[in-house]
Amino acid sequence: MRDEQHSHPFDDDKLKEECGIFGVIGVTDAANFVALGMHALQHRGQEAGGIVTHDPATGFNSARRFGYVRDNFTDAEVMKTLPGSIGIGHVRYSTAGSKGNTAIRDVQPFFGEFSMGGAAIAHNGNLTNAAQLRRELIERGSIFQSSSDSECIIHLMARSIQRDIPERMKDALRRVEGAFSVIAMTRTKLIGVRDPLGVRPLVLGRIGDGWALSSETCGLDIIGAEFIREVEPGEMIVISDSGVIESFRPFAPMKSRFCIFEHVYFSRPDSILGGRSVYETRRQIGVELAREAPVEADLVCPVPDSGTPAAIGFSQESGIPYAMGIIRNQYMGRTFIEPTEQIRNMGVRLKLNVNRALIRGKRVILVDDSVVRGTTSRKIKEMILDAGAAEVHFRIASPPTAWPCFYGVDTPDREKLLASHMTEDEMRDYLGVDSLRFISLDGLYRAAGEAGGRDKAQPQYCDACFSGDYPVFPADMVEKGFQMKTAAE
Ligand code: SF4
Repeated sequence: MRDEQHSHPFDDDKLKEECGIFGVIGVTDAANFVALGMHALQHRGQEAGGIVTHDPATGFNSARRFGYVRDNFTDAEVMKTLPGSIGIGHVRYSTAGSKGNTAIRDVQPFFGEFSMGGAAIAHNGNLTNAAQLRRELIERGSIFQSSSDSECIIHLMARSIQRDIPERMKDALRRVEGAFSVIAMTRTKLIGVRDPLGVRPLVLGRIGDGWALSSETCGLDIIGAEFIREVEPGEMIVISDSGVIESFRPFAPMKSRFCIFEHVYFSRPDSILGGRSVYETRRQIGVELAREAPVEADLVCPVPDSGTPAAIGFSQESGIPYAMGIIRNQYMGRTFIEPTEQIRNMGVRLKLNVNRALIRGKRVILVDDSVVRGTTSRKIKEMILDAGAAEVHFRIASPPTAWPCFYGVDTPDREKLLASHMTEDEMRDYLGVDSLRFISLDGLYRAAGEAGGRDKAQPQYCDACFSGDYPVFPADMVEKGFQMKTAAE
């Protein structure tokens, strides 16, 4: 589904966040707020979305659809089926086990009926011991409905002997390992939880007498909710329909390891993460890059849109003029529903075009957020040279991506990551550019507000896709043959 409908050749060379979650309680027509929140979080997953609401008269109701929120959850007929003052929603890219081949049964939120009433859950992240748990649960009689690792949480809740749903969730989440931000709902409660390391984001907002939970603050902004605070790593928040909030700490305390790539690429630039504007962190990455890897040139151009804030920072720090040397066609994604081979071969040109009049004869610095396989970077370099650029210098706003992510981000297998088997100089030659430099890990940490850089003994963030230091052991993947970093690497 992903490939035919919503993906694009250009997008295949980016890491992709796999989910966004949103929930609201204590508002009239919760589904409308949930749909808006999901729309604001659409950058975190475009493959499918689902909403569950509860209404005392009709009980739990749900709708799950493939495609964009705006195409499904603006339909009055669909929204009419989702009454109630409490609701949660989920947008997904894909989950482990069904990449690009999602069945509607894999679309969250998932629902479970327990003796004390029903509960629905929406999960952002990836469980690193899901395969082991699934085997164990199936052996003990659980019948799985989906291929999603998130469904394990519902089955673990069903097996708990606790008397209420928040307690059962605590039991279940103590058994899972990996990265999870979860929003759940019962008939009368909205629940938000982050894993002990706080790998994926989750924020709390206030709207009138009601409350909202969202993956990012941009989901609060769209419904006019006030950002109150982040749900803290290892915290469970339970909000009742009378507006009472309780906070629990179900896990042993740990030093948090938030995903540093959220700062680089996944989150929207208008969101606030860890008290910092994502835009400002990205601009600061450009400043650090200009200090670490200066080069004489005539123009600094972003690879749109994600390279833009870093290119602005690079230009400000270096004094080299900023210019829109590459223009993005905003409407491309909707034009070719099923790209033919011929159109696929046009690749990047469908989405990006060079501003020839500006580029001709110039020494150009191109700022991009990351290099994954390198296929897109090569094509962009060709386009810039075709347009008559005198020199092309790449500056990359993240360190080399050399390791896959197992915490809720879709990454190619390790061999496909250019940086897993090439040095920086080899990558420069492969891309065919005059120079290529990545920001250092320390520079990235400084840009994210850690003045002293990365604490090697106790890193402040998860940076496994750059460093190979996985903060949670990826048990399922190691069982499947994944080789962890050796002492020599
Ligand atoms: S491995 Fe990379 S993308 Fe995945 S959580 Fe860690 S920093 Fe984020």
